Amino acid sequence: ERAAAAVERHARLIPDFPSPGIAFKDLTPVLADADGLDAVIDALAHVCDGADLVAGVDARGFLIAGAVARQLGVGVVAVRKGGKLPPPVVGVDYALEYGTARLEIPADGIDLAGRRVVVIDDVLATGGTVVAAARLLVQAEAIVDTVAVIMELDGLPGRERVIADVGPGVRVHT
Ligand code: IMP
Repeated sequence: ERAAAAVERHARLIPDFPSPGIAFKDLTPVLADADGLDAVIDALAHVCDGADLVAGVDARGFLIAGAVARQLGVGVVAVRKGGKLPPPVVGVDYALEYGTARLEIPADGIDLAGRRVVVIDDVLATGGTVVAAARLLVQAEAIVDTVAVIMELDGLPGRERVIADVGPGVRVHT
């Protein structure tokens, strides 16, 4: 498949980042390649068909979400890290391996109620980030039925966590 081949060809593995023993998957070269970007966006748009709105997670999710939204003919919303958006915001704190993080969306101006929103990010690891993003959107009364990422990491229960925390009806696409 074209997207998988592009990832295979352009993705880089950076050992011991961000901490010793962790192998960081860098997908930015995939997106920097015109064919790679096209293939990845095509594949993600395909699995996100039917969405009313695309939500991209800060920061690499933004690169993907806007392009997918444009291809689907819908709008895009940024799920931002804490402290970046002007008030009023709604936010959610979630646990990281060390410490906590926060994601926020605007509290008004974007109508989310009853709309089918897909959550997009580059990599699914433990699932904590996309689960937090989905919770935030659901709190704003959106229907989150799809989570789509370019790559899911082996050996981590990210997919299971999304299904357990967002609900059994959610589809997780990689
Ligand atoms: P999770 O919350 O543990 O699923 O981590 C996913 C978040 O961390 C996403 O926003 C990713 O962009 C980032 N992330 C975690 N591991 C990697 C990686 O190996 N490469 C790129 N991003 C990663």
